[in-house]
Amino acid sequence: MVEILCPHCEEEIGLDDDAVGEFSCPYCNENFTWDGVIDGKSADYDWKGFWFSFGTPNLFIILAWILAAYLDGVHERAEVATTNYSDDALGWLHLMSFLSWITFLIYGIKERNKAIWQGALTAIATVPVLMVLGFLYYVEATDWSMF
Ligand SMILES: [Zn+2]
Repeated sequence: MVEILCPHCEEEIGLDDDAVGEFSCPYCNENFTWDGVIDGKSADYDWKGFWFSFGTPNLFIILAWILAAYLDGVHERAEVATTNYSDDALGWLHLMSFLSWITFLIYGIKERNKAIWQGALTAIATVPVLMVLGFLYYVEATDWSMF
């Protein structure tokens, strides 16, 4: 038994393993052909969803460190006393990164969108790397002022 999605209404249909040919969907009565190749489904792997769920948490991290370095620069150059908002930027954007990550993960699992939860899981591997790189960039850009 294989589970496939109707190409018309996206309902799940169970077919025999060796079933091939023309079928009529029990939900919407539309006809579709099934060639029995389950791996062929990788052709409609949601790559856009993957890059979106993978990219968004990473983007927030990159943004966090660039913005923090920028705000720190603004603070340093200011003639009058100003508040340094770089810590706020770091905190909020890392929080946004985490929230977007958990949203994609839950959404991907709930909607059974393999590409989306796989994108979120792939982000776990790259986000810590970006955090370290971002930190190094920040330290360099702010002339080691935090030490
Ligand atoms: Zn259907």
